[in-house]
Amino acid sequence: MTIEPNKVVLVHYTLTEGTAEGDQIESTQGGEPLGFIFGVGMMIPQFEANLSGLKAGDEFAFGIKAADAYGEYDESALVEVPKNMFETDGKIPDGLLEIGNVLPLTDQEGNHFQAAVSWVGLDKVKLDFNHPMAGVDLFFTGKVETVREADPTELAHGHVHGNGGHHH
Ligand SMILES: [Zn+2]
Repeated sequence: MTIEPNKVVLVHYTLTEGTAEGDQIESTQGGEPLGFIFGVGMMIPQFEANLSGLKAGDEFAFGIKAADAYGEYDESALVEVPKNMFETDGKIPDGLLEIGNVLPLTDQEGNHFQAAVSWVGLDKVKLDFNHPMAGVDLFFTGKVETVREADPTELAHGHVHGNGGHHH
């Protein structure tokens, strides 16, 4: 069985920065494989394009440019805001506004999103709304472990159940 739309795919992979020899970002080695339903929009399109047609046991190694992954780093996604918007009862919680901290935020319509603190001034902070992996070229090395039919519940939920997926 080859990888094609609506098949469940389990892979073990190591993600590095730029090339196979780059800094490791994450890896499934030694843990559960990554499980996903192919072709339903869960994964980066270029990731799926590189796996299309492979079968269990096949190995892969390919790069994806930042623009085709999490996007280029966007300077305009850095936003300066007044520090006092983080006050609770007139006080900014200790340790909240430190460079690198990822803050959960809610806008006026109730949408949730995240931003990282990138600069702290006297009465302002700069928030970085870029995806943490923006501007990073990705390189994947790994092996296809399993290719199988998705069952109807998996297709309805849009995710894999059991090994490599949701346990519920
Ligand atoms: Zn489910």
